Amino acid sequence: MTFTPKKRVLVTGGAGFLGAHLCKRLLEKQCEVVCVDNFFTGTKENIVHLLEDPYFELLRHDITFPLYVEVDEIYNLACPASPIHYQYDPVQTVKTSVHGSINMLGLAKRTGAKIFQASTSEVYGDPEIHPQTEDYWGRVNPKGIRSCYDEGKRCAETLFFDYQRQYDVKIKVARIFNTYGPQMHPHDGRVVSNFIIQALREEPVTIYGNGMQTRSFCFVDDLVEGMIRLMDRTDDSFGGPVNLGNPHEITIRELAEKVIELTNSNSVLKFNLLPHDDPKQRMPDISLAREKLNWSPTTSLEEGLQKTIEYFKSKKE
Ligand code: NAD
Ligand code: UDP
Ligand code: UDP
Repeated sequence: MTFTPKKRVLVTGGAGFLGAHLCKRLLEKQCEVVCVDNFFTGTKENIVHLLEDPYFELLRHDITFPLYVEVDEIYNLACPASPIHYQYDPVQTVKTSVHGSINMLGLAKRTGAKIFQASTSEVYGDPEIHPQTEDYWGRVNPKGIRSCYDEGKRCAETLFFDYQRQYDVKIKVARIFNTYGPQMHPHDGRVVSNFIIQALREEPVTIYGNGMQTRSFCFVDDLVEGMIRLMDRTDDSFGGPVNLGNPHEITIRELAEKVIELTNSNSVLKFNLLPHDDPKQRMPDISLAREKLNWSPTTSLEEGLQKTIEYFKSKKE
């Protein structure tokens, strides 16, 4: 009998929303998973069901400090993603994107591991072109309240491409657009979780601004599939950046109305102030992902919202 060693994969931010879904999928794909997290926004609850798997290992560690492990692949997801979390300690947010990326790139350089970066649609800022394509350089305020996240992620991309050019590190950079699904944090203030929780409690649904700003929401299973396709692409000459998201665009007001309808709620709409630098529109052009990864989302907004509503209902009970 021949023994095929499993691929060993490091997932930073593995106890967060996307990380926990990714760890689960990688274990299903017969990988050995090393999950690293400092539990700033992630929780043990997200991964507790994985702890029994002998091929799952959990390390409490902050990636702004060096980390020495031997792995074949790295998914770098560590970074708070919701505005209230990344604005809580903005300096640490920048350090996580910049120092954290340097450490993970140093690890990739030493081990020869391929490395994936969870970049973001926020690198486009408040965009002047619509939908956003990868060749657009973005419009980001360097000194505003969102800058710690946006500019941190932009600098991380720079580091990834410099490590590729300077040290031949194999990189995979995905620009992820708004993603939702079961295991979203109930209190991180993101729009899908806020609206569902408010509607289930029959509380007013809080729209920031007039609700005419747009976003395009991708269901988490679709997103994770796209991430893995990018990493698994055998031709490593393609390192991105590539947009991963759902191109179905809706206004925040329409989203509120859809959530109220799907939850059969009597909630009313409540209009609050729009936060600073809130992008007015956002929608990915995913032609490149279709071409290079043969990927596009398959879950409709309605179907994805239903699954997310069921999740939040089960948490309430
Ligand atoms: P999340 O906040 O649920 O997960 C982030 C995880 O990183 C958490 O478990 C947190 O504890 C951990 N973390 C933070 N700082 C760390 C550090 N210094 N060292 C170790 N661990 C640390 O967010 P998410 O929605 O799962 O996002 C995951 C990644 O995807 C982030 O990098 C985010 O920027 C990116 N992203 C997410 C979305 C989205 O809509 N969810 C969109 C674009 C990009
Ligand atoms: N590093 C790490 N794990 C490793 C290899 C490197 O955390 O397995 C860190 C190391 O501490 C360094 C950073 O990655 O600060 C960048 O490494 P690189 O080799 O690029 O730089 P250098 O060590 O030459 O400063
Ligand atoms: N938003 C809202 N009500 C809420 C939470 C958010 O109207 O309770 C708006 C927010 O101002 C933004 C959009 O919904 O225009 C998406 O917000 P989120 O924080 O989820 O993501 P991001 O702004 O990072 O795209």
